[in-house]
This record gives sequence, structure tokens and C-alpha cells, in this order.
Amino acid sequence: MDITELFKELGLDSSALSSGTLQVRSPVDGASIAVLSEHTRNETIQIIGQAHEAFLAWRRVPAPRRGELVRLLGEELRTHKQALGRLVSIEAGKITAEGEGEVQEMIDICDFAVGLSRQLYGLTIASERPGHRMMETWHPLGVVGVISAFNFPVAVWSWNTALALVCGDAVVWKPSEKTPLTALACQALLRRAMERFGDAPQGLLGVLIGGREVGEALVDDARVALVSATGSTRMGREVGPRVAQRFGRCLLELGGNNAIIVTPSADLDMAARGILFGAVGTAGQRCTSTRRLIVHHSVADRLVEKLKKAYASARVGSPLEAGTLVGPLIDRAAFEAMQLALEQARAHGGAVFGGERQLQDAYPDAFYVSPALVEMPEQTEVVCQETFAPILYVMRYESFDDALTMQNGVPQGLSSAVFTTDLREAERFTSPEGSDCGIANVNIGTSGAEIGGAFGGEKETGGGRESGSDAWKAYMRRATNTINYSRELPLAQGIKFGDD
Ligand code: NAD
Repeated sequence: MDITELFKELGLDSSALSSGTLQVRSPVDGASIAVLSEHTRNETIQIIGQAHEAFLAWRRVPAPRRGELVRLLGEELRTHKQALGRLVSIEAGKITAEGEGEVQEMIDICDFAVGLSRQLYGLTIASERPGHRMMETWHPLGVVGVISAFNFPVAVWSWNTALALVCGDAVVWKPSEKTPLTALACQALLRRAMERFGDAPQGLLGVLIGGREVGEALVDDARVALVSATGSTRMGREVGPRVAQRFGRCLLELGGNNAIIVTPSADLDMAARGILFGAVGTAGQRCTSTRRLIVHHSVADRLVEKLKKAYASARVGSPLEAGTLVGPLIDRAAFEAMQLALEQARAHGGAVFGGERQLQDAYPDAFYVSPALVEMPEQTEVVCQETFAPILYVMRYESFDDALTMQNGVPQGLSSAVFTTDLREAERFTSPEGSDCGIANVNIGTSGAEIGGAFGGEKETGGGRESGSDAWKAYMRRATNTINYSRELPLAQGIKFGDD
């Protein structure tokens, strides 16, 4: 399918894609695929205003009816899964299976949210006073500002938006300036769902095109009750304090530096598969990509051998071609950051396997690399940083205690895994003294989380949780109600006041 047809299927107006100053380039070949107008500060404020108006109406719609809109959005996504998945591949460089997989995640969260729309439960609490009842009610919160990163250009939006919509909120989305087309396509699909729904207020979803300045205007606006921001730790350090300054709510999903521990009892074939998928999938550009391998010295040589073989046969190429496992890096800056990290690793005594630029003749303006495996003498400074590229640092350990210390010895705390068949090691890993990450897996890799669980991480990953479990609570306002159905007005804690 050619790109004009793709735009048409996804409801993108071609004429709006060729004016303005924001160049959108495909990492597949570096070619420009659109030029967009960026929103000004005033336009941003206006879009937030429209979303706020929409919220005031939407919060009155019963939650199960709000769920119907999300069900219709899920239907649109099912119908256009291939087209949207392809646009993700073109704009973000993901291989076809990963592009479509990302859309499948959107469909899954829509299903989850539809069910949730009938389960926004509050507690009933025993009151200490006779003739009184206490309860919690959950109310719509307001406008949710979603800031998203280039590497999950549509799924992260849907994790937030499907929940926000059933919770009675409106959404203003600032996608990455590197992937605005997929965002416009999602907006068009939601619009189609809204037309079928009938009476949804306009302005329920605003999309802001632009970079940091537009993002800052969203972050600073007091009408935005929750800012859910996904991206680098650098971005979180800027956004978090700004939102706190105005006492807004903030949900941060930031960088990870995810490790897999492989113990002597592990099934090494299974471990190798899990490591390969985690480290080279999406060309190492997932927040949950495996970046560190902490392997027991007794099995290290065997495992590294297996991995080197698998690395050498992982096909690097256009993400649009069947058989490709490793697509391109997003841009030149990502390539340079990778090369710099490899240089630093060498300077720290690392032995580098792979990591070279590939396919330069075929794609001079794109950045393909062979994934790198780097054997490190210890966990040095460069290993403790998140480099958003396919670099796997391999370190050896002697005791399980040392492995856990190494696993937790980085500033980030997103995802982690252990491969072991020893029950004690598995249980210790998931215990309070085990992994300090938001995700701690046993015999499954660090990436590829399911939407049913709450997703997010600790420390410099930001502490936010979104997607499944009870993550919806961040998108609602909780009220505690005490109802007195007696003829007395007893005070709590037995306090006597006045004539009592
Ligand atoms: P980035 O931080 O460069 O940009 C992310 C988004 O933040 C973009 O939309 C950008 O325009 C916006 N932004 C940047 N500075 C801002 C500011 N001061 N105010 C408001 N908005 C601002 O990240 P990226 O390069 O697009 O994505 C890669 C990073 O995202 C990696 O660190 C990765 O680990 C992280 N990430 C985390 C998760 C997670 O769930 N934890 C998921 C995906 C990506």
C-alpha cells in the first residue's frame, strides 16, 4: 500500500501534511514523509480549553455509556490494525510484527477499559459513629495531558486514553515530534468512533503538534489535572517539578536500565531466547529493552557463545521487509549516542562484539546497526546509563547476593528478570529484598508487558503506573463521604464539644 492510500485509510488529510515547518522523516530511509504546522502557545491554550469544556459534559455521561465509546474505538482499531501498524513501522521504524503488535495492545486496553467502565468501584467503610455510613466515591478528574515518546507512538496514548475516557476525563495529547502522524491517525480513528457514538462532546481529544514548547504549555496549564508523561529521565526531571509547582498530578514513565540474571540452574536455551528478544527487539529502543545481562560465571561462556551466534544471525534491515528482526535507529543522534557509549565501554575495559553501522550504501540517510554485545569487567558508569540503542552489557557474578546488588545498583527501576529453576532464587528475586523494579519476572524476559498488569517503574523511572490492575485510580478523583442517618451529631474520636 502506498503512503497516500495509507493516509486515506487512516483518515489523514493529505493537504494538511504538506505545510508548516515540522519535518517528519521515516527512519526506514531517512526520507521526509510529511511537513506539519506546529501549534502555537495560544492554540495550545485554546485546545486545552476545548478539552476542559468537553470534560464538563463528558463527566455527566454514565460510565458504562462512556465505555461504549471506547468499545467503538476498539472496533476502529481492529478494522485498521494493519494500516495503523504499517504507519507505526514507517514513522517509528518498528518491524511489521511489532508495529501491528503495538496496535493489538491498543485493542487489548480498549477491551480492558470497556469492562472497567462497569467496575469503577469504591469501598464502603465501617463508621465508628452510630447511625453513620462511610463510603468512597470515584469521580472524573478533569483534562488528562498525555506526553508520549517516539518509541511507543500509539500504545502509550491508548493506555492512558482508554482509561481516561471511561473514567470521564478528556485528553490532550502531545505526541513525540518524531511521530506526529500516527497521533493524527489515532485522533481520526477516535473521531470516527465518536461519530458512530452520536453525542460525545467535541474536544474530547486534542492533539498538539510540536516539541518541548508545546509540551511545556500543556504541563503548566492548571486546567490539566493530570500530566501523564512518558519519555527520558531528563524530560521527567523537567516536567515533574513544573507540575508539582502548581500542585497538579503527575504520572511519570521514564527511562529503564533493565537486567536479566541468569543463574547456574537456568534453562540456557530459554534464557538465550528471552535475552535476544529483549536486547535486540525494536533495535533496543524499548523502555523495557534488556540492557544488562548478569550471568553466573559457571554458565557465562556457554551463554555468551549462544548469544553471539544468535546475534550474528539476527537479520538487520528494512522493518517493512519480511524476515527482518532488527530495524533502524530513530535518527543520527541515536546512532551517535550508541557509538559514544561503545567507546566509553571500550575505555572501561569492555570487549565489544557487533555495534557497527549497516546498510549505509542502501540507506545513506538512515541508521541501521548490528546489535552490540559488550563483555564488561564490572558495572561501570556507562553501564549505569540508559543508552537507547541495542547494546547488551554482560557482567559475571559469583554469588546470588552479588547478582541482586548489581541488578539494583543502577538509578533506574523499570523491568528486571531472573532465569532460574531454583525455587529459592526465584522467590528471593520477587521478595522485598529482591529486585527493586516495578516489573520483576521469572523465566521470561524484561520486555513485552501485558496490559492486564500495572505498568511502570521505581527510582529514576518515575514511580508512575498505567494500563491495567488499579492504575485507573490515577485518572479519577476520590471523595470520602460520611452520611449521618441518625438524629444525633456525635463527633468522631469521642470528642465532647459545647453542651455535650
Ligand atoms: P524524550 O524525553 O526526548 O521525549 C518524550 C516526550 O517528551 C516528547 O513528546 C517530547 O517532545 C516531550 N518533552 C521533552 N521535554 C519536554 C519538556 N521539558 N516539557 C514537556 N514535554 C517535553 O524521549 P524519547 O527520545 O522520545 O523516548 C525515549 C525515552 O523514553 C527513553 O528514555 C525511554 O526509556 C523512555 N520511555 C519510557 C517508557 C516507560 O513507560 N517507562 C515508555 C517509552 C519510552
